[in-house]
Amino acid sequence: MEKIQMVDLKSQYLKIKSSIDSAIADCIDTTAFINGPQVKQFTDNLSAYLDVPYVIACANGTDALQIAMMALGLERGDEVIVPSFTYVATAEVIGLLGLVPVMVDVDPSSFNITADIIKTALSPRTKAIVPVHLFGQCADMTPIMQLAKEHGLYVIEDTAQALGADYFFADGRKMKAGTIGNIGTTSFFPSKNLGCYGDGGALYTRNKELADKIGMIANHGQIKKYVHKYIGVNSRLDTLQAAILNVKLTHLDSYANARQEAAKYYDTKLGDVSELSVPSRSEYSSHVFHQYTLKVKDNKRNELKTYLESKGIPAMIYYPIPLNDQEAFMNIGRAIGNLPVSRELCSQVLSLPIHTEMEKAQQDYIIENIKAFFK
Ligand SMILES: *Cc1c(COP(=O)(O)O)cnc(C)c1O
Repeated sequence: MEKIQMVDLKSQYLKIKSSIDSAIADCIDTTAFINGPQVKQFTDNLSAYLDVPYVIACANGTDALQIAMMALGLERGDEVIVPSFTYVATAEVIGLLGLVPVMVDVDPSSFNITADIIKTALSPRTKAIVPVHLFGQCADMTPIMQLAKEHGLYVIEDTAQALGADYFFADGRKMKAGTIGNIGTTSFFPSKNLGCYGDGGALYTRNKELADKIGMIANHGQIKKYVHKYIGVNSRLDTLQAAILNVKLTHLDSYANARQEAAKYYDTKLGDVSELSVPSRSEYSSHVFHQYTLKVKDNKRNELKTYLESKGIPAMIYYPIPLNDQEAFMNIGRAIGNLPVSRELCSQVLSLPIHTEMEKAQQDYIIENIKAFFK
């Protein structure tokens, strides 16, 4: 049995080594390191995959969020509603731009924000909502879009963990995560579901005007060479990363499938352990399992983590502290209520190894040890 890792990027690479190596060699050969043709090829490919007309590449998922908020023209003091149970990047850029992160609680089974929760946080200064499709499963977008429409709010979908997930509408239509709101953002950080070999990110939208503005802001606000219409940033996807992503995008659905199979296997073996809750599935979304996250009852989470580590099994806590309890947000944000669900999740969640190269033997070993711990 291979050593168990949270993600196994090496084995994944070895399976596609020849295509990756030749894509990289081509880049170096032509030395078009910035804005080479592979970047446009990749945004075209991703646009076709997502069935969204405009995809703009940028340097990372955090920049993508920042550029989205700049492109929407949000101004100092405007409030942006975010879940308190998420990765810091979601709210960090809000603070950086002088906007006010309004942190709300999440649904205990999906880990995502809902329209009902968002309603409790609306104020005359609310301008935007950032649903995060946490761990690979969409927030329930229909009621969120409805609420946004009623109140004239922008919706930015943080799709860093859910690239490729499908959202199902009540009428049977489906759309890819991130293509429903005004702007979707994603990350190609190596461990994300579509990871490159460094940093990378992208934004998507259906609005041509917004797409043009996003493209300019990501490139110094430039409308043409040396003519600057907006204050922008320098945020580009390297040609090398685009070349790698062009290869990996063709595998994304099979990667999702491998993650889903591994998740299903955990479910069937761990579903009857009464001290645990396995991840819930919602009827409105597929799940691409960026993380496979258990809830551990009776304050046993930390003990279980230590036990597993002693057996050579890594397990991670995403996330240990809600945003509203982070020092960085103390004086700039506003929390709605006491956020009991976020706090409880921070004390209960444990993410097990899940990736595209999981072996049954590794999963069996993990499962055996979890059962042994609770015996
Ligand atoms: C990873 C991640 C980001 C940031 O992406 P980077 O490419 O690391 O900047 C933002 N939001 C969420 C939810 C993430 O998981």
